[in-house]
Amino acid sequence: MKTEELKNLFKEFGKQIKFEHDLKKKNWFNIGGKSKVFYKANDLKELVKFLKILDNKKKIFILGAGSNILVTDNLYDGVVIKLGKSFNNISLLGDDKIIAGSGVLDKTLSDFARDNNISGFEFLSCIPGTIGGGIKMNAGCFGKEFKDILLSVQAIDKSGNIKTIPSKDIYFEYRDNDLPDDLIFLSASFKGNKDKYDNINSEIIKLKTEKEKNQPTKIKTSGSTFKNPISQTEKKVWQLIKESVPLDISFGDAYISEKHCNFFINKGNAKFEDMKNLIDFVEKKFGKRLELV
Ligand SMILES: Cc1cc2nc3c(=O)[nH]c(=O)nc-3n(C[C@H](O)[C@H](O)[C@H](O)COP(=O)(O)OP(=O)(O)OC[C@H]3O[C@@H](n4cnc5c(N)ncnc54)[C@H](O)[C@@H]3O)c2cc1C
Repeated sequence: MKTEELKNLFKEFGKQIKFEHDLKKKNWFNIGGKSKVFYKANDLKELVKFLKILDNKKKIFILGAGSNILVTDNLYDGVVIKLGKSFNNISLLGDDKIIAGSGVLDKTLSDFARDNNISGFEFLSCIPGTIGGGIKMNAGCFGKEFKDILLSVQAIDKSGNIKTIPSKDIYFEYRDNDLPDDLIFLSASFKGNKDKYDNINSEIIKLKTEKEKNQPTKIKTSGSTFKNPISQTEKKVWQLIKESVPLDISFGDAYISEKHCNFFINKGNAKFEDMKNLIDFVEKKFGKRLELV
């Protein structure tokens, strides 16, 4: 599909469509080039129409909060889709269940659960992503992951077919799942337990304090770079990095965080190549023992 064809096809989506759109400000690393097409979906009906017109002829990338991606400096020759406001709804489903759009921030879901006296969502206050990104990554911390609270996921495939997938049919593993790559998550339902506001709130404060003590905040990063070994007896990745890599190594403005050496940071104007070189440098020290998150 040529750019001219895309321009004609997408006339009806008006300002929802942008061409050669900058992705640098749309990810936590603050790195990267442009996307040939950037589409912000107003609502589900419009998204279905868009996907049907696209007809699987272009590569698609779904962007959440951009807290776990490293974007190349080259033009992304495809369509980046961002889910708009109508994917940010959140509501109660009975006493201890919640349904949330996939654009909802993890922190918003955690706060909503607390405000409705539902526990189990406290760990989400420490993860800066969206529900969509959290399902994709099976994000987690402090011993809890998305899979522990998830009941079902509503998703659409890239041909525009909508389906609901119960959590029991999904095989989740550490920061991964076996769902097909072509799914766009629309919303998800979750279950927690009834508890007192004060208990939940103090747990949130405890986790956030712990996180801030050990991990850098308010910086350009994408969180942990490498997955920890599954085995509890093996060392954590930050320990392995600390033991084997000169921690003051840098490529351009790409550095290893002084506070947590599995967090790589952009101290200013790092390019994709700088961050990639840093990742490759560390990866080489460990061979196949490290895997990118
Ligand atoms: C400071 C910091 C701390 C972090 N701490 C943690 C932590 O404690 N635990 C942890 O697990 N992670 C952590 N992360 C990483 C990150 O926040 C999580 O992986 C988060 O779940 C990513 O969500 P996102 O919305 O930002 O996704 P993005 O980074 O935008 O995308 C990540 C992946 O999800 C896909 N995706 C996003 N939305 C959808 C959708 N609706 N449908 C289909 N696919 C989608 C994208 O295509 C991409 O493949 C941290 C990151 C930072 C910057």
